[in-house]
This record gives sequence, C-alpha cells and structure tokens, in this order.
Amino acid sequence: MSVSWRPLGDTTFLITRQSRLPLLYAPLQDLVMEVNDAYVRCFQAALDGDAESARAIGVEPGMMEAFAVVSPKVRKKFDPSWPEAFEPTSVTLFLTHKCTLRCAYCYCEGGSGRDIDWPVLEASVLFALENAVRLGRELTVAFHGGDVGAVWPLFQRAIEFIEAAAAQAGVKVTMNTGTNGFYSASQAAYIAEHMHSATVSIDGLPEVHDRYRVTPGSGPSLETVLRSVRIFEENGLAYTIRMTVTAESLPLLAESVEYLCEHTKAQVIRAEPMYSRGRASVSELETPEPHAFVEAFREAGIVAQTRGRLLTYSGARPGGVVPAFCTYPSPTFGVTPDGDLSCCYEVLRPDDPLSGEFFYGHVEADGSAICVDRSRIAAIRNVAAQRRSACAECFCVFSCAGDCAAKAFDSGRLAGEMSSRCEITRALVLDMLEAALGGA
Ligand code: SF4
Ligand code: SF4
Ligand code: SF4
Repeated sequence: MSVSWRPLGDTTFLITRQSRLPLLYAPLQDLVMEVNDAYVRCFQAALDGDAESARAIGVEPGMMEAFAVVSPKVRKKFDPSWPEAFEPTSVTLFLTHKCTLRCAYCYCEGGSGRDIDWPVLEASVLFALENAVRLGRELTVAFHGGDVGAVWPLFQRAIEFIEAAAAQAGVKVTMNTGTNGFYSASQAAYIAEHMHSATVSIDGLPEVHDRYRVTPGSGPSLETVLRSVRIFEENGLAYTIRMTVTAESLPLLAESVEYLCEHTKAQVIRAEPMYSRGRASVSELETPEPHAFVEAFREAGIVAQTRGRLLTYSGARPGGVVPAFCTYPSPTFGVTPDGDLSCCYEVLRPDDPLSGEFFYGHVEADGSAICVDRSRIAAIRNVAAQRRSACAECFCVFSCAGDCAAKAFDSGRLAGEMSSRCEITRALVLDMLEAALGGA
C-alpha cells in the first residue's frame, strides 16, 4: 500500500505508482494528470525557469511560478495572521461529562462527571452573541458531550435561553449537535425541531453497533438510535453518520455500510478507525491495521457509491487549503462542563494529560468573566503552524496539514513524524485522485 512521491517545487507533487504512469498532482490548481518521464523532465526544467521546456508542455512560462512557489494569497489561507482579539461568534457547549451510553471505546470516558454550571453556560452564549451582534454575523451553537440526553432538562433550558437571547438581539442562530441518538421519540422530535444539523454515531450492523455502543446496563442501543434517525428524517433534520471501526469490526465494514444505507437516508457516512484513548485504552479493543483499513474502506466505499451515498474518512479530503487538520488553532470556543476553554472536542477534563495542550482559559463559575490566556492561544497556533510546515513535503499537506493534533500529542508523535494514520490518509487521497482522473 505504501505510496511514494516527491515534491516538484513548493506546490506540486509527483506520485509514483506500481506498473503505471506517475501522477502529477498540483492541489492548489486542482490538477491531477498522468505523465511520462519526458513530461516530468520538461516540467522540472520549466520550474527551474526554462521557458522552452514550459512551452514544450503547453504552459506559458509565466504560469510556472504558481507551481513553483506558494503565492502570498494562498499562504494567507494556511499561514493566517490570526486577529489579536478573541471574538468568537460560535460556541461549543459541552453540557456534561455524563452520557446515556457506555461505549466500549469512549474517548472521554463518558458516563461520569459533572454538568456545566448555568452561569458559565449563560456567560459563554452571551459572549458569542455579543460578538455576533458587534461583527454583524450569525451565532452558531454546537452541543457535544457526553450527550445532551443525560442532562435533558438542562439542554432544553439552554435551547430556550439561546433562542430567546438571539431573537431579542435580532441575530440568526444555527445550532448543531454531535449525538449518540439514544433518545425517546419525543426527545428526538425536539432535537429535529431545534437543531439545524447533527452527526449521529452509529457503527452499522446490530452485532457491531450493539457490541460497542451499549447502555449503562450493557443493553443494546441500535433500535432506539435508528428510531431517532427516522424521526430526524421525517422532520427534515440534516444529519450525517459517524462510524467508529475497530480491528474486530473491520471485516464487517462493507456489510455495516450496506446496513446503514438500507436503514437510513444518510447521504454521508464517515468511517474512522478507533483510536485508543480514554476507555478504549483500558479495553482490549484494537485499532485497525492501516492496510486492512484501507482495503475494507475501499470495499465499503463501493457499497456506499452503489447506493448513491458517500463514504468519507477525515484525513482524505483532496483539494482546498486548510491551515490545520481541524479548527483547534482558531481556536474553537469550546466550554467544558468544568468551565474550562478547550479547543479540542476530545480533551474535556482538567485531569486529561492533554489539557495543558488544548486548554486556554476558563469561565468563572459565577459567569462574571471569561478569562482567556493569550499566550496559550499563541502557543496553540504556533504548534499548528509547526505541524503543518513539518509536513510540507507530503502530497496531502494542503488538506491534512499535520493530522489530528490530539492523536499526535497522545502518541508522543512530533511534528512531521509519520504514523499509521498517514498511511491511510495517503492511500485514500491517492484513491480520490485516481477516481478524479477516471472521471468517477
Ligand atoms: S462515545 Fe459518545 S455516546 Fe459513547 S459513551 Fe462516550 S460520550 Fe457517550
Ligand atoms: S485535535 Fe483531533 S480530536 Fe481534537 S478537535 Fe481536532 S480532530 Fe478532533
Ligand atoms: S500528517 Fe501525515 S498524511 Fe498528514 S500531511 Fe503530515 S505527513 Fe501527510
């Protein structure tokens, strides 16, 4: 499965394939083409300034600069000059550490812990709302956890407060949630009514899903989750599915995707290899081996495509330019149940060994102040920039930008150090390039 490539200039890569012509990939130009050795030689000479060689491959010499160096306009996208002021118009509320399920691989050990204090929630929402008013933007509120189902009255109170405050301020509010979908019918209808989108965690076949995503009494959850999904669909809630894949469930990935296509109308299904953290690190579950994951993903991808659905993986998103793998260096204005500000969706507890990397402030328990440590924000952004620049020679850098920082920190991986996730990312990006080449 190993992919070999070399950079040509700052923005173009030559990807070598077994028994086939290499690919010239210029992500910033959205260009991928099969090339022969003569073309590569001319391209390289043209990059080095040889006008004749540029013309020989049908490119005006002046256009070669775009392949040779990253323009300042593009550089601004991945090397952004972040504003001094901390003025988020989006807030992510982690209402609770508690959860209605006890997933075997839970990254945050969902199930126990505290709920957010109301003054903390109120102050956080009003802070984002005031910014939205001042900057003339919409307000976005996301709910993650734990799960809101574990603190239902608090969740409803929060929704009522947010909607009333936004209406009073004359600001449009958009709300979304990452959810386990384990709700009563009336709860699911409430979510569909108030959320604009959702990501629902479902692992596929009953024997897979109900093996991992269990109730506190170790009971199954799939039937209830699928009922919620039906209610979401009936009420027009846009949602995607997120699957977690273990080494054990991997052989059933294609069948699980088939099952989800059969039982839901989700257009996008994301499959992610389990990462061993939180409860997963003490369970006996194993993360899939990368080569096997890629093979199973390909098979499952065809199943999804045949059903008119899309199977995705977070690292494989060719095209576009991202400054970091996710929004953590923006930083995400995430407020944990303890009132800490975290820019990572998975680092939520003060005793998490990674809290020192992702926490950058707190909200006073009485809501009187939001304390932001600007030196922490600077350090977080610096880390993101380093991670990205250390990957500059990887052909996935413009879309992967150094991978999930939490997983990298957790595994002690330094910027630029490869991991099994890189193997998956590269193989699946290459698949997408080949599909684009074939017009798929
Ligand atoms: S993975 Fe999500 S749904 Fe499962 S126990 Fe953890 S927080 Fe709850
Ligand atoms: S750093 Fe990783 S775990 Fe944290 S929010 Fe980003 S992608 Fe998610
Ligand atoms: S983390 Fe790996 S796949 Fe991603 S850009 Fe860096 S080297 Fe490439």
